Parts: sequence; C-alpha cells; structure tokens
Amino acid sequence: MEGKSLKQLQQELLQGSITCEQVVQYYLANIEKIKHLNAYVEVYADEAIISAKTLDSKIIQEPEKLGKLFGCIVSVKDLIVHKDHNVSAGSKILEGFVSQFDATCISALLAEDAIIIGRTNCDEFGMGSANTNSYFGPVKNGLNPERISGGSSGGAAVAVQMDTCLVAIGTDTGGSVRQPASMCGVYGYKPTYGLVSRYGLVAYASSFDQAGLLAKNLEDIACIMEVISVADEYDATMMSQNLFADQNAEIPQNIKIAYFTETIENDTLDLEIKAQTLHILQDLNDKGATIEAVNFDLLEALVPCYYILTTAEASSNLSRYDGVRYGYRSPNASTLNDMYVMSRTEGFGTEVKKRIMLGSFVLSEAYYDTYFTKAQQVRQMICDRLDVLFEKYDFLVMPTTPKVAWPINEKSENPLESYMADIYTVLANLAGIPAISVPLGNNTENMPFGIQVMGKRKRDKKTLEMAKIISKVAFD
Ligand code: GLN
Repeated sequence: MEGKSLKQLQQELLQGSITCEQVVQYYLANIEKIKHLNAYVEVYADEAIISAKTLDSKIIQEPEKLGKLFGCIVSVKDLIVHKDHNVSAGSKILEGFVSQFDATCISALLAEDAIIIGRTNCDEFGMGSANTNSYFGPVKNGLNPERISGGSSGGAAVAVQMDTCLVAIGTDTGGSVRQPASMCGVYGYKPTYGLVSRYGLVAYASSFDQAGLLAKNLEDIACIMEVISVADEYDATMMSQNLFADQNAEIPQNIKIAYFTETIENDTLDLEIKAQTLHILQDLNDKGATIEAVNFDLLEALVPCYYILTTAEASSNLSRYDGVRYGYRSPNASTLNDMYVMSRTEGFGTEVKKRIMLGSFVLSEAYYDTYFTKAQQVRQMICDRLDVLFEKYDFLVMPTTPKVAWPINEKSENPLESYMADIYTVLANLAGIPAISVPLGNNTENMPFGIQVMGKRKRDKKTLEMAKIISKVAFD
C-alpha cells in the first residue's frame, strides 16, 4: 500500500487485484507493529473489516454506487466526535463519554465510503506541541522512539508516517497538524478558517480551530477536502461559498513569493532547517519565481498574542466539563460544589489547568483591556499586514518548526520554550489563512523537518499547488 495514492488504489480495487478487506488487514497489521509508539487510543478492527467486506460486495455488485472515497482508510484524532464511539480529547475528564452524533466532517467521509480505522492519540484538548500532554501517555516518533512525535496531533502524524492509514484527520488550532507532520516527515495541511465545519470538533479555541489533514500524498489531501469541505448550518463561522471544490487551482507563471527576514534570521532556528529553507527558495528563484525578503516586526508578538487569545477562549469552552454533563465525575465529593471542583481537579491535566487559569486571568475585569483587548488588536494588525502582503505576493514561505523533534525526556528549563515551538505555525490560525507543511527530508540526525507554504484566505487549492511545486523542487 505504501506510496500508492487513493486513485491508484481505487483502480486496483476495481480491477480486483486487491480487496478492501486486504487493504484494511494490511493497515491493521501495521498498527499492531507500532503499538509501542502509542499512536492510537482505540482501533476499530472488527468494524473496519465489516465495512470493508460490505464495500467489496459493492465493488462487484453495484460499482456505480460507490462513494468517492471507497478504499480510503482514515484515522481520526481523538478530538473529533464519531457517533456511538468514545471520544476523550486525550483527557481523563471525558472518560467513558460516547458521542451521540457524527462531526460533519465524519458524516461526509462515511457518506462517501471512507473507512475509519481508529482514533489517534493527541495532547489533552489539543494543548501541546509534543504530544506529551495526553492522559494516554506520549506518542513516540516512528523514526526514533526516543523522540517526540510533535503535537498536538502526534498520533495522527505517526499513524501516517508508519503507514497505518492513508490519511489522518487532525485538528489545528496553532499548528497541531503542521508541526507533527513536519516532525514525522509527512504533509500536514490546515485549511482556510471556515472551509471545514467545526461541528463535532471538541472545542479548544473556537476562532482558531480547524480540522486538517495529514498524508503522504497531496492528491489524497485534495480528494478528501473535496468531500469534507461542505457548507454546514451547524457552524455559524462556516463559509457558504467558495468552498474547496469551487476554488481555482491555477497559479501564475511568474509566482511571487515572500519570506519574512525575521523568520530566517531567528536565533531559535536550527541551522540545517535554515540552510535547507534558503536552498529551496534559491531553487525556486532559479526556476523563475520571484522571491523577496520582507520585514515582519510582529514575529515576536505572534506567540504571546496566540496564547492570550486561545487560553481565553479555552477557559470559556472548557467550562462545560463540570462533572454533570460529560464523562468523568469524581466519586469523592459529598456536596454539589465539591463535585464540580473535584471532577475538574481530578479530570484535567496540568497543562489544561494552567491554560484555564491563564485564560481566566486575561479575561478578568482588572486585566481584560491590558491583555485580551490588546491581543485582539494585535490579531487585527497581523491580519491587515497579511492582506497587504497578499496583494503583492502569491505565497508566504517559512520553516514549519524551528527545530526537529526533540528527545521525549528533554526537560526544558524555560517553560516558554515549548510555546516558542509554535512561532511559525500560529500565524496561519491568527489570520485564518491556509497553510501546509511540505516534508523536506531528514537532517543529519536522521530526523525529518518541513517547509511551510501559506496562501491568501480561500486560496487553498493554489496553496496545495504551490506545495506540489516545492516538493518537486526538493526531490527532483
Ligand atoms: N501547540 C499549540 C498549543 O498548544 C497548538 C495546538 C493546536 O494546534 N491544537 O496551543
């Protein structure tokens, strides 16, 4: 299966040289082999085999009724709900919770005959950059199990990296699809905000959250997007027009690319990643693209702005977990108030509590204007700057992460350091623009890293086209 695109696989399925059941068995065997990496929280083996058998009969008896995604085996991050299945958001607080409905993206996938093979491990409520904040334990990188997978969609990235599914559905609030994709050597794409419904995504920071895709093949990403980018009245921030299928993919002959000087001349940027990023830009230039360095003095403001706004939104979104409505309820409480307090105290992990406190602080009456209002103003400035930039340039290119995957046990002396790992990814969520991490190969320690392409809002197809060009330049 390795290396085959969905289209190729579908041809083989139609010709009968392989069956869906064999495809599922192949992936299940691979999942078994990588259990030690902790990428899956739950595997739906029996269910996937039954769905595969049903599809195999459909291929023979009613091939005209096959959905667009037949033969497509996907994994789903443990942050997206699936009817009659558990979802835990990597948290104890959702222990035992079973969803009564499908997220819109899940029902869209199932309606087109995709098969869901399991749910993947992630940082608790998507909060993290290393997948070491999950109640189910850390996810290990398939290339070196001593190292992190990246996060928060670490399970999704390893699931694709180790060939246990064709495509993984993740979520990206500040880089959670692109960052682990970069650290595991696969593509990771975050669509324009509003292109995929958030209905059924466990909310972290609603004005940032987007479902995203991880895969080894750009074509497969486009195929899935055609299916999951559907208008949805259950998400009021969803776009109703210019959804993925309607977008124009054509990019001009003379592509204009900007890069921010501050992203390249940054002290935290690994020298090999820097050299390789510059090398790709030079190659693009040699092939006729216009490449220009642009100053962006807001780089240092991105991470603080992101963490003020996302923790504020998270503190409000996570207030619903009170021990009454969902999942875990403390057995140790004797009064109603104790029940609220103890359920949350015992149910949430340290990082989540830290963020709820930070969010409540920046929203508190005394500090609201100093932090929350200010951060909103900075967000607006960032959006305005990008609007101006995209009038002149087609794309913005930068590294995906400042470093490759670090050792799991590496204890940082500075707690802010792991937040800084998001310096290149949060921009796309602050501005709601599409962004994709393209794998560039491995460094001298044999760890992968990627380069990131961002485009103007609603120009997702063009951004994916640009990613294709960069891949060609990197590997031809
Ligand atoms: N690492 C970032 C955070 O912890 C991004 C997470 C995400 O995109 N879900 O908030």
